[in-house]
Order: sequence, then C-alpha cells, then structure tokens
Amino acid sequence: MSNQKDAAHSGRGVAVSCACNPVERCLPYLCIRGYHLPMTPSQSPSYDAIVIGGGPGGATAAMILARQGRKVLVLERERFPRFHIGESLLPYNRDVFEEIGILDEIEDGRFVVKKAAQFVSGDGITGARLIFGEGMFTEVKSALQVDRAIFDDMLLNRARSHGATVHEGATFLRHDVTDECATVRWRDVDGVEHTDTAAFVMDCSGMAAVTARQEGIRRERPGHRKVAVFGHFDDVLMPEDDEAGDTVLVVRDQSWAWFIPITEKRTSVGLVMDLAEFTPGKSDPEALFAHIVSSTPELQRRMAGAQRQGKIHVVVDYSFSVDRMVSPRLMRVGDAAGFMDPIFSSGVMLAMVSGRDAAHVIHAALTADEKMTAAMRRYERELRSKMDAFWEFVEHFYTRPFLELFLQPQARWNLPSAINAVLAGRPDQPWAVRWRLRLFFTLVRLQRFFPLVPRLPWGQPGLQKAVVGG
Ligand SMILES: Cc1cc2nc3c(=O)[nH]c(=O)nc-3n(C[C@H](O)[C@H](O)[C@H](O)COP(=O)(O)OP(=O)(O)OC[C@H]3O[C@@H](n4cnc5c(N)ncnc54)[C@H](O)[C@@H]3O)c2cc1C
Repeated sequence: MSNQKDAAHSGRGVAVSCACNPVERCLPYLCIRGYHLPMTPSQSPSYDAIVIGGGPGGATAAMILARQGRKVLVLERERFPRFHIGESLLPYNRDVFEEIGILDEIEDGRFVVKKAAQFVSGDGITGARLIFGEGMFTEVKSALQVDRAIFDDMLLNRARSHGATVHEGATFLRHDVTDECATVRWRDVDGVEHTDTAAFVMDCSGMAAVTARQEGIRRERPGHRKVAVFGHFDDVLMPEDDEAGDTVLVVRDQSWAWFIPITEKRTSVGLVMDLAEFTPGKSDPEALFAHIVSSTPELQRRMAGAQRQGKIHVVVDYSFSVDRMVSPRLMRVGDAAGFMDPIFSSGVMLAMVSGRDAAHVIHAALTADEKMTAAMRRYERELRSKMDAFWEFVEHFYTRPFLELFLQPQARWNLPSAINAVLAGRPDQPWAVRWRLRLFFTLVRLQRFFPLVPRLPWGQPGLQKAVVGG
C-alpha cells in the first residue's frame, strides 16, 4: 500500500488526490502542494503484478505468481467472506485444484459432490440426466457444488499464504500503461486514494470488467439481454439417494431456473429470463419470483415447502464480450474477459483456468523482461476458443429444436458422450468429440423442419414464455 503517510516512510508511493502523473516516468512520486518529489531512484515498478479482484480468477492468478516468487498485490473491493452467485462447478475444475495444491482441502467433505445435472421441462414431464461418469470422453467424473462465500474466501486466503499482499475494501479507480510499467489508482475503505506501479495488471474484476469499461471495449452480446433473480432456500424438494447433489435445471421457452444444493439443507434457486420481462427499479423481484414459481408446475412442486434464507438478488443484462483480452502489460481473466449466460455453469472453471494460464504467461514475460509476448496472444486465442465451445451451446439453448433434442437424448452414435465432455469442461476437443458435436448441431437444424424426436407442447403451462406484468 502506498498512501501519503506510508510513502514518506517506505520510500515509494504517491500522495492522496494528487494531479501529477507518475505514469510519465514510471516513478513513484510524493506530491505535496503541487511539488512532485520522486521517492526512489529506481525505475522498477513496486510489484510484478497488480491483480484487480480477489474472486476465483484473481485468487488463482495471485496464488500461482506468488508461489513462483513474484511480488503480487491483490485489490479486492469487498470484504471476504461475501455472498457471490455461481455455486455449481464443472468436473474439469479439478485440474486447477490439483495444480494449486488445494485438492485435499476442497475434497474434505465440506462441499456437496455433483455427479450429474438434470434438465427437466417446466411441466415436469420431459427430462434428461447428464451423468459425468457415463461420458466416454469425460475423464473427470464429478464436480462440486460450493457455497461461494466459503470457497472464495478459502482461495483468497491461499493466495495470501503464498505471499500475495491482499487489500480488501480496496476499489480500483483507473489504470494507465506506458512502455516502462502499468500504474493503478485505487481507493481504500477510508476513502484515501493510492497509486501503485507494476510490470503487469491482471483484470480479474468479474462482470465489472473495470479495465475494459475504462477503455470502452466492453460489448453487450446481442440477443442475450437477460435478468437473473435468485436466492438461497432451505427445504427445497431435491433429488435424493444416488441422485443427491445433482443440479436441477427447469426449462421453459426462453427462460429457465436452477436448483443447486450447496448443503444437505440449503439450495440456491434462481430464475433467468429475458430482460424484456423485467423493469429494473419497477418490477418487484420477490413478486416476479413468486409469479414464475406459481406458473411453472415443476418449480411449484420443488418449492412447495421451501423457506427463503436472506434476500432475493437481481443481476440484470449480463452477457458481454471484450474486444481485447490482452494488451501490453495487461491481461484480462475470467468474467472480466467476457461473461456468458450461466446455463452450463462454466464461469468459475473458466475463471480459474484463465487465472492459472495468465499467471504462467506473465511469469514467463517477467523472466524475459517483455511487456507483450506471443504467449499472451496465444492465451487470448485459446480462451476465446474455450468460451466459444460453451457459447455454441448457450446460443442454441434458447431455441426449441435444441431443447427438444437435448431433453430427449438418443444414445445413437454416442452423441450424448460428446455433449457430456464439452459440458464437463474438457479443455480439448479430440476428433471423436468434434465430429459428434457437428452431427448433433446438424440434427438440431433438421429438428426445426422434421421432428426427429417428439415436439414439446410449448404453449402449455410451465413451458410457455415467462410473461410477467410490470
Ligand atoms: C446469475 C448467475 C449464475 C451463475 N451461476 C454459475 C454457476 O452455477 N457456476 C459457475 O461456474 N458460474 C456461475 N456464474 C458465473 C460465476 O459467478 C462467474 O463466472 C465467476 O464468479 C467468475 O469469477 P471471477 O473471478 O472472474 O469474477 P468474480 O468471482 O466476480 O470476482 C471478481 C471480484 O472482483 C471484485 N471487484 C469488482 N470490481 C472491483 C473494483 N472496482 N475494485 C476492486 N475489486 C473489484 C469483486 O468484488 C469480486 O470479488 C453465474 C453468474 C451469474 C450472474
């Protein structure tokens, strides 16, 4: 940290509210009444990396860099533990748990084991269970459902214990980049502003995507203006015995609901619908939630004895992409590199995988004393292709032919196994998976004109569009 008081003692940093620009020469300055006093003769930045955001992406990146002996500063706006949505993980998250050495801690029984995801139509009649253990191309057979307050706190503490400096209650304000360094201006809980310099900035700020917003390169995904209304409930009717721990997704035309068991008693329940159905500031989220539950037989059945714990949260209009994931001295990780509709629970895995990959790329760039490398460009290409694999499913998910085939899977040609591998988060797509996916999406196109599987009664209660009065 480098506020005015610290700067005088530590020999680095910039004073509060100063108008000088330390970026010009990448030198920490002390600024008193318009006089700018350089604090150190050195031109080296204070940190190897400044990580904005201490969620799963930021904590993973900070942990890996700090473990490699790099000097890392994490700026996190909230105080942990804090509520965060996104509780259902994917099997291939395991690779990162293993690499960062938390597999034992994470599999000690504190989190619910998820062996499958169930997709059910809103009328409760049609459904499929995607069992990871049965996928012939899925090598990791289960995943976890986590309370994010506990999970994220555990990851951030790990980053701290590996040597990263973590400031909570620290809000990013702006970044600037020169040939010599990146500079980040931020505000602490007492409202005091600070400036720190680093060789690299990692934007891991989640959907806030702070650096992309500053640069004006954050773009909404056309056709994906959605709203999610969600909360935690006790005593929801959930699958039992061998199916205990399953995620349940209830599907309607253009909308869906999730049920994610985060403990034996508590379930995360959320509804996702078109933004057109919701007027921010006017629509009452609790009334909307109650209306959709009461008009969907499968939701009604599961929520009959449920008790809400805490408030109903709303996230509006969330899918976006960014024009650039990397630029000299800057890498974007996780949701800050682009956010997609959470139907297939890919967010935390992509955040941790990209946090890990970006950390390795930055470590190598620091070693080579480079500000932009071929590996950074490769990182962007690979992350975009991982996201595209999910986007193809997300885009189709809101079409009737896809849902008809998806909810009534046919074992022929092992097509469900290829889908299983992608939705488990398998990072590569071998030819055996690829040709099956292409065939599956061809069948989806055919289903539009010829019913290869029975059509669903879209106008019936529980399957029609979620139309709600203001
Ligand atoms: C409705 C909904 C349901 C979801 N369900 C799932 C799911 O079931 N499974 C799944 O895997 N994913 C799910 N996701 C996505 C998941 O939540 C994210 O993909 C995941 O949290 C991304 O991790 P991250 O580290 O990139 O960002 P985050 O976890 O969002 O962490 C970013 C951090 O940056 C901090 N920050 C933000 N702005 C600033 C600032 N100015 N200064 C300092 N710090 C800042 C925030 O406080 C936050 O702690 C869901 C998302 C939504 C919206």
